[in-house]
Amino acid sequence: METVAQKRDNVALTMNLFYHKVRRFMVVHFRIKYVRESIDVREGACDQCGQCCKIIVQCPFLSEADGHTSCRIYKLRPLQCRAFPLHDNDLRDIEYKCSFRFRNTDDA
Ligand code: SF4
Repeated sequence: METVAQKRDNVALTMNLFYHKVRRFMVVHFRIKYVRESIDVREGACDQCGQCCKIIVQCPFLSEADGHTSCRIYKLRPLQCRAFPLHDNDLRDIEYKCSFRFRNTDDA
């Protein structure tokens, strides 16, 4: 059974993840220059693991079959999905289970 302290920690974690979801949404829509600069210092390539599609809740468009993940609306996916990750905080949100890394981690 979850203790009060554990519940409080889980709420704090979820709130933090939600804050970063909103931050990513705002950044990709209103800070285009920052997005370009972040992509410039990003290394690696997406290996389609699907971790970024499961932050807080699993995206309903994520398809998982036979150990392979794919997006059912890939060509129409939102900007924040196309641009993920843009900062080391984004990698932290998925416990660094992503094939991208950053050379520079300035705050968004
Ligand atoms: S977590 Fe990283 S590697 Fe995995 S699908 Fe998202 S962007 Fe691609």
